[in-house]
Amino acid sequence: MRCAIVTGASRGIGRAIALKLAEMGYGVVVNYASNSQKAEEVVEEIRKKGGSAIAIKADVSRLDEVKAMVDEAMGQYGNISVLVNNAGVTRDNLIVKMSEEDWEEVININLKGAFNCIKCVSRQMIKQRYGKIVNVSSIIGLTGNAGQANYAASKAGLIGLTKSVARELAARGINVNAVAPGYIDTDMTQVLSEELKSKMLDSIPLQRFGKPEDVANLVAFLVSDEASYVTGQIISIDGGMAI
Ligand code: NAP
Repeated sequence: MRCAIVTGASRGIGRAIALKLAEMGYGVVVNYASNSQKAEEVVEEIRKKGGSAIAIKADVSRLDEVKAMVDEAMGQYGNISVLVNNAGVTRDNLIVKMSEEDWEEVININLKGAFNCIKCVSRQMIKQRYGKIVNVSSIIGLTGNAGQANYAASKAGLIGLTKSVARELAARGINVNAVAPGYIDTDMTQVLSEELKSKMLDSIPLQRFGKPEDVANLVAFLVSDEASYVTGQIISIDGGMAI
């Protein structure tokens, strides 16, 4: 069974991606940082539908923990066909008020986390001469945003990482792409004020917030054989917000 690792799959967009990939027949590694109950619920949901999944706790910013996760995935499924670097956090503040810790935490999880995971799966993918890597960036990585310098830098960094690794691994049969979601309804965006949400809605041509499933459907396409000639691309999924 082909194995897909989805980081940050206990909630939100990662959860929807994990469910979608399980539906497509992948054995899914439901990675999470601390919320083991939510991760186990995702695994249960997949198994109930006849799919295969395991929950693995690993802080993606820690190379040793990522290595252990990839070893466990290999032990379970014997291959790594798909990696979705979805785990991400925000620590918003204006640049003059942003602490060094908030800068480092966001860069370490959102950007270094993706590096750690790619580093740990790429040798196996090269051996297989097959692999699909999808990085979850953000339209904020394309446009920037006041109060999110750390987050925007991490998401813009993912774009450079995606394009470079796509060039490196293309000849080995590995596709590397990124998706850049706009406003998606999850825990991450629920904390925003009603005023800000209604302002954002006004700026979305398709006149609705995105659902985690919208992003999952795009990721499903990018890992499918139908997208085998797509690599190094950053595909926005934002209802037209950043047109
Ligand atoms: P979310 O609901 O807050 O979920 C975040 C997920 O990441 C959780 O599963 C969490 O695990 C996991 N996570 C956090 N830190 C981690 C770490 N150090 N190691 C491993 N896993 C970790 O977020 P979301 O809205 O679904 O966002 C998912 C991704 O999409 C993020 O990269 C985010 O930047 C990006 N994105 C979101 C939006 C949006 O509007 N929501 C827009 C653009 C891009 P626990 O449950 O264990 O905490």
